[in-house]
Formats: sequence, C-alpha cells, structure tokens
Amino acid sequence: MTLYTGPVFDMARQQFHLIADHLAIAADERDRILYPKRAIVVSCPIHRDDGRTEVFQGYRVQHHLTMGPTKGGTRFAASLDVGEVAALAVWMSWKCALAGLPYGGAKGGVAVDPYSLSRRELEAVSRRYMQEMIPFVGPHIDVMAPDMGTNEQVMAWFMDTYSMYQGRTVTEIVTGKPVASGGTEGRREATGRGVIHLAERALDTLGIPIAGATAIVQGFGNVGAVAAQTAVERGMKVLGVSDHTACYFDRNGLDVAALQRHVATHGVLRGYSTELVFDPAELLLQPCDVLVPAALEQVITGPVAARLQCRVLAEGANGPTTPDADLVLAQRPEIFVIPDILCNAGGVIVSYFEWVQDLQQFFWAEAEVRARLNQILDRSFTQVMDRVRRDGISTRMAAMAIGVAKVRDAKATRGLFP
Ligand code: NAD
Repeated sequence: MTLYTGPVFDMARQQFHLIADHLAIAADERDRILYPKRAIVVSCPIHRDDGRTEVFQGYRVQHHLTMGPTKGGTRFAASLDVGEVAALAVWMSWKCALAGLPYGGAKGGVAVDPYSLSRRELEAVSRRYMQEMIPFVGPHIDVMAPDMGTNEQVMAWFMDTYSMYQGRTVTEIVTGKPVASGGTEGRREATGRGVIHLAERALDTLGIPIAGATAIVQGFGNVGAVAAQTAVERGMKVLGVSDHTACYFDRNGLDVAALQRHVATHGVLRGYSTELVFDPAELLLQPCDVLVPAALEQVITGPVAARLQCRVLAEGANGPTTPDADLVLAQRPEIFVIPDILCNAGGVIVSYFEWVQDLQQFFWAEAEVRARLNQILDRSFTQVMDRVRRDGISTRMAAMAIGVAKVRDAKATRGLFP
C-alpha cells in the first residue's frame, strides 16, 4: 500500500498498530481494517478572477462501508495530500464507532489556500469539487461536512450543486449546512461546545472548579472560536487565542466576544490589538487549566508535551498530538488528555442528527439537539474512563480501542466485501 504516505498517515498507522497489539488483532486482519476502501482523486479547474484557468487537485477517501454510509469533513488547505486525507478518514471511523453512529469514516478536500480565493473563486472551487464527486457520494453512500477551510456556505453550494444534478433538493447529501438550507440548529456550535462540555467533565474528575478555570485556545475558526465563547459562557477565563495570522495573550482574560466581532468583520485575528500580541510558539506552553488545540495536526510533539503546563488537554483539532508526545504524556499523569476522537466528536454527532432530520423532514428544537449531544458525549466519556480503569491504559488508547474493536467486530460478522 504505497498510496497512503506522509507524516499524518504514518501517525494514524502507528496509532492503529498500538491498538491492534492491545486488542490482539491478528496480523492478516490489520490491513483490512486500516486501509481505506477507496480513494478518489479529481481535478477541479476554475476560472480565476484575472481570467486565467487554474486546476486544483481534490480528494475524497472513504475508509469503510461496514456500518453504513461514510461520513466526514471537507478540508480546503494548500498542503493537503491524499495521505493526510486518508489519516483523517481513518480517525473518523474510530470516532463514529466510539460515539455509536452508523457510519464509516471519510474525509476529503481540495489542495487550495481558501484565504487566497475571492468569494466567487471559492464558490467555483466548491461547486466544481462536488460536481466531480457526484458519481461517488450520496445520502446513503457518503455524506460530506465542513472541516478546516470550509464552512456553512460551502456546504450550501455543495448541496445545491448535487441537488441541481438530481433535479430536486437533496438536503441530506451534506451536513453542516445553514439552517435556512436544511441544516440543523446547533450544528455550527456543536464541536466547540462539545469540547468544553468534555473539558468540564475532566475538570470535575480532577476536582477543579469550572468557574474561574483558565483556558488557552489555538485556532479561532469554527471549533476554536466557539470553544472560547462557550468557555466564557461557563464562567471560565480565556487567557490566550491564536489563528494563522496572530496570537494574543492576557493573563487577566481576553474579551472573546470582541475577538469574535473582529473576526466577523476582518476574517482573521490580525489587527485586533498591538498590546496583547504574543509569541505563537509559546502559547501552548503557558500555564492554564484547559488547553484546546483547535487548528492543525502534530502541534504537540514530544518536546512540547514535556513543557506543557495545562491540567486538561482538550483536543479540538484532529491529530494534534504525535505518538512521541503520547509517550511523554504517559509519564505526566497530572495532565488529563481528552483524545481527539472523543473530544471533537460533537461535530459528527450533530451532523448525524442533521442527516436524520433531513431524511425524515422532521426538525428538532435546539434544546433537543443540545440535550442529545451531551447524552452521547457523556456516554462516550464514561465508556472511555471505564476502559482506562479496567485496562490501565491511556484515555487515547481506551477511546481508540473501543472504536477499532467495534469496526473489527462488524467486519468479522459481515465478511470481506465492505
Ligand atoms: P476553520 O477553518 O474554521 O478554523 C481553523 C483555524 O485554525 C483558523 O482560525 C485558522 O486561522 C487557524 N490556524 C491555521 N493555521 C494555524 C496556525 N499555524 N496556528 C494557529 N492557528 C492556525 O477549521 P475548524 O473547522 O475550526 O477545524 C479546526 C480543527 O478541528 C481541524 O483539525 C478539524 O479537523 C477539527 N475538527 C473540526 C470539526 C468541525 O465541525 N468543523 C469537527 C471535528 C474536528
């Protein structure tokens, strides 16, 4: 299997083999569980605003079809490659299985810097990508959602492109849409809210009061900004935030609502303040109760892990912590790690609710969405903690072991096809 390469896929592979060893999965069963069912690569030509034609490469990786359709986000990022997309698809599988959702994992995206596109160009890339994917997706085959670099508007363009091809409105083809276009209440906030809900469970376990607890958030997009806002709503103090343009820190607590207003107007954090500017490399290392990486993969390496000063590491991003860092964290039991496939599962859980509502054309109130979200997160948290106590393993091992075992068992009972 030479297609799936690169540091992010290597990380997913390494993690899987640790779990497979723990679960005593036979050597000849492993490739079948780890490697994706299929990978699709497409060319997306668009007209740029200056009249040139430019082609961007798009990907979609569908990991397994054993438990239902595949489900996963769409990432627009300049450096995207098939190895990274495959790793994210694999993690989605373990995440959906842990949460008890009837999906295999998928992920996709386009190798483009979304910040370099005008709105018209972004629409052109979005529509062309979905157009190319039409033969390979469907409400019962593969259902897309947002991820880094995409948002509700991009999902609306995806849904519209697919729907126009079908000749009717098919809202259930993507999740994370605007409520006005068949989305659900509470989806945009789901991931960030879930991160803080679970951080509270962890603080509770450590006996740290939530009111007055401090937080630092890396990444101020869909996940990070909502996590920061929810932390403030819950009585916590947000000391630091960053995005790809700026980093701010204030020991007395930042004004998160003002930061959000700035981003709503300017698109990025840059330009918010000159006095609060901070070194982004130092941000993760500051003392705080809850540290939320909510941007890129592999930011917490071994050396970073050794210098962390948080009590709870709440992984809003996918894959922020490297296997080397996990070895360091194993020697630092004072840090409570909420692993990504548990911590950021709020997004796919409410995406599942959106899909169910679209299929039934029966919509729920936001209070119901939030209550059911917390119910599933609490169940998953309890299952993971029970497993940690039973097997004496880390929270990441426990979460992944539950997810991988469910996929393995489903494959064992169904046979070789899916
Ligand atoms: P987004 O595009 O809305 O936001 C990403 C943020 O990260 C932006 O503020 C961007 O400026 C920032 N960023 C980029 N490079 C950075 C850097 N070097 N340093 C600091 N900040 C940087 O994306 P998102 O949807 O919030 O996703 C963030 C992470 O959460 C990703 O790992 C994604 O896979 C994961 N995730 C997202 C969802 C979801 O529902 N959107 C669900 C689960 C997991």
